[in-house]
Amino acid sequence: MTTDPNKFDTLLVANRGEIACRVMRTARAMGLRTVAVYSDADANARHVREADEAVRLGPAAARDSYLKVEAVIEAARRTGAGAIHPGYGFLSENGPFVDALERAGITFVGPPASAIAAMGDKSAAKARMHHAGVPLVPGYHGDDQDDALLKAEADKIGYPVLLKASAGGGGKGMRVVESAADFQAALDGCRRESQAAFGDQRMLIEKYLTQPRHVEVQVFCDSHGNGVYLFERDCSVQRRHQKVLEEAPAPGMTAELRREMGEAAVRAAREIGYVGAGTVEFLLDADGSFYFMEMNTRLQVEHPVTEMITGQDLVEWQLRVAMGERLPLAQDELTITGHSFEARLYAEDPEQDFLPATGTLTRFALDLEGAGLDADKVRLDSGVESGDAVSMHYDPMLAKLIVHGADRDQALATLNRALAALDVQGVVTNRAFLQRLATHPAFKGCELDTRFIEKHEATLF
Ligand code: ADP
Repeated sequence: MTTDPNKFDTLLVANRGEIACRVMRTARAMGLRTVAVYSDADANARHVREADEAVRLGPAAARDSYLKVEAVIEAARRTGAGAIHPGYGFLSENGPFVDALERAGITFVGPPASAIAAMGDKSAAKARMHHAGVPLVPGYHGDDQDDALLKAEADKIGYPVLLKASAGGGGKGMRVVESAADFQAALDGCRRESQAAFGDQRMLIEKYLTQPRHVEVQVFCDSHGNGVYLFERDCSVQRRHQKVLEEAPAPGMTAELRREMGEAAVRAAREIGYVGAGTVEFLLDADGSFYFMEMNTRLQVEHPVTEMITGQDLVEWQLRVAMGERLPLAQDELTITGHSFEARLYAEDPEQDFLPATGTLTRFALDLEGAGLDADKVRLDSGVESGDAVSMHYDPMLAKLIVHGADRDQALATLNRALAALDVQGVVTNRAFLQRLATHPAFKGCELDTRFIEKHEATLF
């Protein structure tokens, strides 16, 4: 009798917080044994309580625990875990980690290391995407980094332009240049920043779009050559490039634009031999043109809005694909039903420039019945419960409130009722800010672009 080398009965989740709980929920439903890992700060965390087994990695600092490749692999070995789900953040887009798992004979629930590497460098990724026929923002992403040449390219593109570090991420090494006179100073500044953050000075230049929307496409590929897109999400509402409110589908999409963007996203994934869940991020201009920005080679924070409108469990898809199975559905079997929103609840103080907040959650509850809300239409993906401590060691996101409605207006009404019904005490959160966003007339009116919060500052704070 031969056993399929891809099959596993125990899954280690190399993450914490809401995503660790979310992944384990599906793993349990599929009959898998779950293993959590934790740092000293998380010894009593919810993801540890919910796992069948838990292994300590090390001290609180992420570099001594959740980012420690050897410790995570050792935990998998010790507990007989045949696969590791990385969640998002931490080791989820770390090529050397994926290589190390392969050597250890442990399945990585995610893409091959080569696909992660292909998207890791912005300039190289753009060259690949151009080859795959995926539209790019007009700009320059060449190897020649001579000052005069870069300046000439910027002049050719036309101002304003955006300088971006090729090796960049998290908005670092990125600057808008308003005019030719500002170019050299901005270039010097970006190079310094990029050198300090990434040890690399290469720059690329893009036309700066003044009112784009952030629209991203969920893609999925299996190891048998099948690839589909599960439609798009609009994540235009961002604060300092951090998403705050997301929705699916993106308002105002025509069927044709949806298909064009979806097919471009699948081409992008195929070009790099992608397997698993991925997200291709685009900027969508007011005239309906869309441009590739980057591909995130992991499950995204905002994946639940896609689950809500498609009725699919993306973590189940991930685990099935990792087991070597085919995609559960073909493109023409996927449809959109209704509308979904996600609001990210952060432990942070909007009154104090969004300073992260800490403390003990004396109460953390969502009384659906009391608020007259339908449990099928509201989902709270949380990494905490009443009584839990919130420390300063990790990302301050506590939970995500996700809702579904027959259409956008109904979903938005449900989101507002659910936000009001959320009872959080003991730790300061951004809940009131989320309520102001979700009740804002411009948001209700779909006046979306990536500068939404900036533009409406006067009425949001
Ligand atoms: P990072 O990897 O550092 O997060 P991205 O390339 O993903 O950088 O860009 C971050 C954000 O900057 C985008 O979500 C978008 O809001 C904005 N942005 C990026 N490129 C452009 C552009 N060419 N024009 C206008 N805004 C842009």
